Amino acid sequence: MSKLVARVFSGSPVNLSRLAKVLRSGGIVAAPTETVYGLAGNALDPKACRKIFRAKLRPATDPLIVHVLGLDDLDRYAYGNSSARLLARKFWPGPLTIVLRKRTMIPSVVSAGRNSVALRSPAHPLFRRLLRLSGVPLAAPSANPFGYVSPTTAEHVRSGLGLRIQHILNGGSCAIGLESTIVDLRDAKRPRILRPGAITRSQIEQVLKVPVRERRSAGRYAQAQVAPGMLTRHYSPRTSVILHAVLDKSSVLSGAQNQAWVFLAKPSRVSGKNIYWMDRQGDLERVARGLFAMLRRLDVAGYARLNFECAPGKEGMAAAINDRLRRAAAKA
Ligand code: AMP
Ligand code: MG
Repeated sequence: MSKLVARVFSGSPVNLSRLAKVLRSGGIVAAPTETVYGLAGNALDPKACRKIFRAKLRPATDPLIVHVLGLDDLDRYAYGNSSARLLARKFWPGPLTIVLRKRTMIPSVVSAGRNSVALRSPAHPLFRRLLRLSGVPLAAPSANPFGYVSPTTAEHVRSGLGLRIQHILNGGSCAIGLESTIVDLRDAKRPRILRPGAITRSQIEQVLKVPVRERRSAGRYAQAQVAPGMLTRHYSPRTSVILHAVLDKSSVLSGAQNQAWVFLAKPSRVSGKNIYWMDRQGDLERVARGLFAMLRRLDVAGYARLNFECAPGKEGMAAAINDRLRRAAAKA
């Protein structure tokens, strides 16, 4: 493990060119996107990408998303198709990742040996400036030790990777707060959502005009648990998370004081030190934005258990929020 402690950089022009230089010369930099903070490296440089895997203790079987400036890059790094171009035109830059058959210039370390590549054009101005200044596509998984909650502030990155990386670009809190929607378009006629996010299934269906399937994510949770050694040695949430379809006064009263109770909206008839809410009104966009920070904060608050209320429904942002809640609960 490196002795160097990470430096946090503001997004000044001088800092950005310095960090872009780090990226061009094969180094890695944590940087904000509108979804979560990513740990970026030159996607065309296998050595840089291996540094990302090492810093995160990420298993080599988990492929990295490649971040690009825009539409032109679809066909540069992948074999695009009309569905992919339609979606990119509509949702890029933004929180949509598209999986396509990869071109050979994408090294196999990035695709974890598969013949596909996952591409996204992020909207965050600082990340876009890094892309422009470095002049290379940037592979970037979330900037946290593998298996822990994704970071939505520079401080989250520092607390997780501060001893393992040297450069963190500070862009404040992430506007969306959940990782991108991933849509598999290797078969253009049969789109499939691999991970729900802020771009919803119905938004994608409206553009493609065909039904979009959604993968049950159970496999991924199981996969995440394949490496318990790594998780416990580092930042695995220690506190168990229990999910509730609805939280009400009676569930809280029957629960213990050493548990946290997290409502979606501010509850009207319950109060106490261990009572929390995700957003005063339960607005799902704001819930998404604050979810990971809430999980992190409560994980170190000394509770025996964290009780979370799920978002109502199975569609849209609720699907994305509940997916992350289930992941948090599955690892407990
Ligand atoms: P993250 O860990 O947040 O960076 O998300 C990366 C996820 O994107 C992976 O775990 C896969 O589910 C998906 N993904 C990335 N690259 C590919 C690829 N080449 N083919 C299929 N899925 C991919
Ligand atoms: Mg991740």
